[in-house]
Amino acid sequence: MIDGLRKSEYTGENRCWPCTVLNTSILLLACAGVTRLLSGSRSRRFGVASVLGVVGGAGIALRGYLVPGTPQFAPKLVSALSPTPQPLQPPAEPGSLAGESDEETGERALSELLDAGVVHAVGESLQLDERFRTDWRAEMESVREGDLEAAVRAASSSSVSVQSVDSGAYIVVSAGGVETERWLSRPVAIADVAAVRTLAEFDIDRDVRVQSASALRAFCRDCPVCDTPLEETSADSCCGSGSSTPLDAPDDVLACPECDQRVFTF
Ligand SMILES: [Zn+2]
Repeated sequence: MIDGLRKSEYTGENRCWPCTVLNTSILLLACAGVTRLLSGSRSRRFGVASVLGVVGGAGIALRGYLVPGTPQFAPKLVSALSPTPQPLQPPAEPGSLAGESDEETGERALSELLDAGVVHAVGESLQLDERFRTDWRAEMESVREGDLEAAVRAASSSSVSVQSVDSGAYIVVSAGGVETERWLSRPVAIADVAAVRTLAEFDIDRDVRVQSASALRAFCRDCPVCDTPLEETSADSCCGSGSSTPLDAPDDVLACPECDQRVFTF
């Protein structure tokens, strides 16, 4: 019987998410309405609402929609409600080759970098090894001349899909699904890939290379793309603002005034 009800043209791979979201919202409103407005005992009202919820939810699951005619009006309604659809837009926060990291990986990466002499502890601060800086720079120059997409794919620690967008201004790295996407600006992508390669030459463990590469960008002096000296500035005065409500202090960033791109966010 269930198969008879199922509408494959609106479910499974063909499910229309605007329809589903819209119908689920309508259903929830209806359930809330029933509990508030229906006369009778509290348990009767909740009973009717939960039957409505179950039946309606099953309807949406099986048929793709509940309100008749949804496939005709929902996409129009949703597009009218949402702002003009933009072509692929970079998120406000710039991404890096490394995803989220935990404290433990960070500490292990730092101790490896110190052991391998990539960074040196000088008093309270860390300094980048000058030999590493020279090799890293040379790698940046070779990375930016080659196929950046392929280079990012090769440097990534897991299997990811990599796509160059916006005429190469960004490299989008995805592990599948929009929520896993990371948008690497061109300078970030070049710096991180070059650092991963140089770290390999310095015998840094494969599994902390990507992590370390993203952190080392703080030591970058010149733009990985155009060699212009980077400037320390606030996110507000460069590259559009990331999070600039008056209550939110803008991030301090290293940015290239020529490329108008961030290289590192402190
Ligand atoms: Zn630049």
